[in-house]
Amino acid sequence: SNRIMLGPLVAAIDQGTSSTRFLVFNAKTAELLSHHQVEIKQSFPKEGWVEEDPKEILQSVYECMDRTCEKMTQLNIDISNIKAVGVTNQRETTLVWDKETGEPLYNAIVWLDLRTQSTVERLINKTPGRNKNHLKHKTGLPISTYFSAVKLRWLMDNVEKVHEAVLSHRAMFGTVDSWLIWSLTGGKKGGVHCTDVTNASRTMLFNIHTMDWDPELCKYFDIPMEILPKVRSSSEIYGLMVSCLGDQSAALVGQMCFKDGQAKNTYGTGCFLLKNVGTKPVMSDHGLLTTVAYKLGRDKPACYALEGSVAIAGAVVPWLKNNLGIIQTSTELEQLAADVGTSYGCYFVPAFSGLYAPYWEPSARGIICGLTQFTNRSHLAFAALEAVCFQTREILDAMNQDSGIHLSQLQVDGGMTSNRLLMQLQADILCIPVVKPSMPETTALGAAMAAGAAEGVSVWSLNPEDLTEVTSEKFEPQINPEESELRYARWKKAVQRAMNWET
Ligand code: ADP
Repeated sequence: SNRIMLGPLVAAIDQGTSSTRFLVFNAKTAELLSHHQVEIKQSFPKEGWVEEDPKEILQSVYECMDRTCEKMTQLNIDISNIKAVGVTNQRETTLVWDKETGEPLYNAIVWLDLRTQSTVERLINKTPGRNKNHLKHKTGLPISTYFSAVKLRWLMDNVEKVHEAVLSHRAMFGTVDSWLIWSLTGGKKGGVHCTDVTNASRTMLFNIHTMDWDPELCKYFDIPMEILPKVRSSSEIYGLMVSCLGDQSAALVGQMCFKDGQAKNTYGTGCFLLKNVGTKPVMSDHGLLTTVAYKLGRDKPACYALEGSVAIAGAVVPWLKNNLGIIQTSTELEQLAADVGTSYGCYFVPAFSGLYAPYWEPSARGIICGLTQFTNRSHLAFAALEAVCFQTREILDAMNQDSGIHLSQLQVDGGMTSNRLLMQLQADILCIPVVKPSMPETTALGAAMAAGAAEGVSVWSLNPEDLTEVTSEKFEPQINPEESELRYARWKKAVQRAMNWET
C-alpha cells in the first residue's frame, strides 16, 4: 500500500473533566494528524457532590484510541509509527479500586466535589490559629475540599467496600492518571501502579521539597502508604510506551513555558493560571498554590509553578443550559452575550463549589446581583463570561503582587478559548493582550512531547529554541482602563457578598 511516511509520531490520552480525547502528533513538526473526542457524563447525586464513572472513563479512552486509529488508517498513516503515549488528566479526582478484581470500589470523586466541606472545616479548626495554610510549608497547598487526601479520607470513612479493601490490603488509590495507566498496562494481571510528580503534588500527601510521599502527612490524614501509587517523573516510560503529566502542567509544557516567569491560563471546566517559577518552590502570600510544574526525566530537576485555580469557568455553560434552560449550546451563549455587549450592571459569581484562588473559601456560594426590570438572559450570558475574566484578573493580580513583576501578555488555551468574545473581554478586563495559539490542543501536545522526549523521538527535546514559530492570534485591550477598573471593583463587591454565605 502507499503508506505516507511521516517518521515518528507521538500521541496523548487527554482525560479531562468534561471529555476524553486521543490525539496523534508528528513528533518532529508537532502537527496534529488525527484525533477523536468522547464526552464524559458527570453526576450530581446530592447537593455539592460531583462524580464520574471510572469504567466509563476507561471505556472512553479505548473508544477514542480505536476511532483515532481507524481515522489514521483511512488517511494511510501507519499507526505503528506511534512511539510514545502521554497520559494527561484532570487532576485531584480521586479513585479507589480493588487490585485483585480490578473493580472500582466507588465512583470517581471529581475535584470540584464539596462533600468534604465539613471535614475540611474540622481539620482547619484543629490547627493552631485556625490556619488553613497549616500544611502549606510541605505541600504548597491550603487545606481545601479540592485536593485528593480529604476525598480519599471520605471514601475510607463512608464506603464500606473501600474500608474493607484497605483492611485486607486489596485497595489501590489513584488519581485518574494512575487508574488509566494501571488499566492500560495490564490491570489486575500486573498493571503498573504509579503516578507522576505533578499529579502527586495535588494530593496533599506529597512533600514538594523531598519530592516523595510524606509519612507525616499520611499520618495526619490517617492514610496507609501502601495504597499509594509509586511516584515517577513526568517524562519516562512506565510501561507500554506510556508517560504522564497532569493536565495543567501539560498545558504549560505545550505552551513552551519553560522559563522562569512564563505563564499560561487554561480555560476548561475550571480555569488555571500557572506561572513557571524555576527549580525552587516559591510560596505565595496572596492565595496561590505552589505546585510541581514538571520533572522531565528521572535525572532532571523538578520545576515548580505558582498556580491560581478557578473552580467554575466553562462549567457555567452546562449550568445555564441544564439548570436554567436559557441556552442550548455554548455557541448560543456567545451569540446572546455578543447581542448585548454588556451585562448591564449584572454580576454573576459562580461560586458553586465555594471559591478557590485567591480566597479558598468552601462556604462561599454563587450569587447573581445587580438585576433590574431590564435584565434579560443575554445580560446574564454576558455576566457569565465576564465572571471567567474577572476571576482570571484576581489571580493575575495575586501573581503580580507575589512577584512584583507584571505579566505583559497572557498566553491562553483550553476549550473555552474558542469563544472569541470571551478572549476579547479577557484582554479588556486585564488591560494586557491575550495570545492564543492556532493549534488549540496544547495540553495534549505537552503530554505527547513529554512522552516523546522519554523515548528520544521528540526532536524538540523540550527545548524552545528548537521550535519553529508557533502561529497565534492576539486580542488587544479595546476599552479604557478606567472602565475596566470600575467593572472590576463592582465584581469585587459581588464576591464579598458571595463569601461566607453559610456562616
Ligand atoms: P476540560 O478539560 O475541563 O474538560 P475543555 O478544555 O475540554 O475542558 O473545555 C471544555 C469546557 O469549555 C466546557 O466546560 C465547555 O462548556 C466550555 N466551552 C467550550 N466551548 C465554549 C464556548 N464557545 N463558549 C463558552 N464555553 C465553552
